Amino acid sequence: MSTEQNNTELTFAETGFAEPILKAVLEQGYTKPTPIQAQAMPHVMQGRDVMGAAQTGTGKTAAFVLPILQNILPMASNSASPARHPIRALVLTPTRELADQVADNAFKYAKYTDIRTAVVFGGVDMSAQTTLLRSGVELLIATPGRLLDHITQKTANLSQVQILILDEADRMLDMGFLPDLQRIISLIPAQRQTLLFSATFSPEIKKLAQSYLCDPVTIEVARQNAAADTVRQVIHMVPSERKKDAVVKVLNSRIQQGLSRQAIVFTNSRIGCSKLASALERSGIKAGAIHGDKSQIERMQILESFKNGSMDVLVATDVAARGLDVGGLTHVIHMNIPDELPFYTHRSGRTGRAGEKGVSIALVTNRDAYKIRNIVPPIVTGK
Ligand code: AMP
Repeated sequence: MSTEQNNTELTFAETGFAEPILKAVLEQGYTKPTPIQAQAMPHVMQGRDVMGAAQTGTGKTAAFVLPILQNILPMASNSASPARHPIRALVLTPTRELADQVADNAFKYAKYTDIRTAVVFGGVDMSAQTTLLRSGVELLIATPGRLLDHITQKTANLSQVQILILDEADRMLDMGFLPDLQRIISLIPAQRQTLLFSATFSPEIKKLAQSYLCDPVTIEVARQNAAADTVRQVIHMVPSERKKDAVVKVLNSRIQQGLSRQAIVFTNSRIGCSKLASALERSGIKAGAIHGDKSQIERMQILESFKNGSMDVLVATDVAARGLDVGGLTHVIHMNIPDELPFYTHRSGRTGRAGEKGVSIALVTNRDAYKIRNIVPPIVTGK
């Protein structure tokens, strides 16, 4: 196993991407690869297995999607025959939101190629997914449960997969997907390239890598459990009963300063999430709640309203904390502090993405101040 640390100065053109991929990358306005991209892309393009640890918002999606496209490009075909479009690369993600987001990026990066991309996840009707899969797809992004449904129905066949990507593998294990992963991997040829991305390299992740990766290159661009360096951590000491007012005050003060009031507010419970969204609406702030009790369609509609700017505040439980990418989001508010620090870090990582500056504001009571004592260096205000 080797470890890569440098190599951050390559341009996309120097990395050797084919013209249609380069064109799509430039269209996104990316000027140079982020560190995880510069380090991972050459190895992925050479067909090596890679185990990557990267902070949220580091550009890790493009770090694996772009070289995968490059690797399967020679087999792309404009034939109408489904047989000419077998699944060649499979990305597995823990959540529907992440699957949707990876697919969003993949569609953009693949748009000038003949590579067909599709995404399948649960909570929505299967028939549209079935039609897509039947017509043939080279790059498939999926959550494990729904993929297994398609496999059972024989609408997905993994016998020609050459590249497997486990995205947010730590989260997949946390969510109990190991048996599903084992079943899926048993259906993929052993002769393949495997990439594993994870926020941390826990012992469980290392075990997973030992079982399924072959002599991987290890790439770490993140300090474990550290919030992105571009995120300023602010802590407001606020008693519980004044938290809702504190959220309104933060949002209003941003408007007074002529700044965007778009924010994600994280809560620990589903009930708290819905209640806060309703309270904000009553205060004249356009807000929507996403949590596990909402249907997938509702979640997608609310996310879309937030992303297109017609909604100011997204109130969310940790369902939305991972993988969610809203361009230009400048701040995140923690209504409560989660019991586990990695959740706090992932929530904060929704801002300060791709090198932009962000602020993470935690509303902390005296009782839960101890939970974030290791977040340094915070700016503490109020009483
Ligand atoms: P990710 O960590 O994959 O969720 O990416 C975070 C954000 O960074 C996304 O909005 C990407 O569009 C953006 N991004 C990815 N690669 C680059 C790059 N090389 N330069 C600028 N932005 C990028």
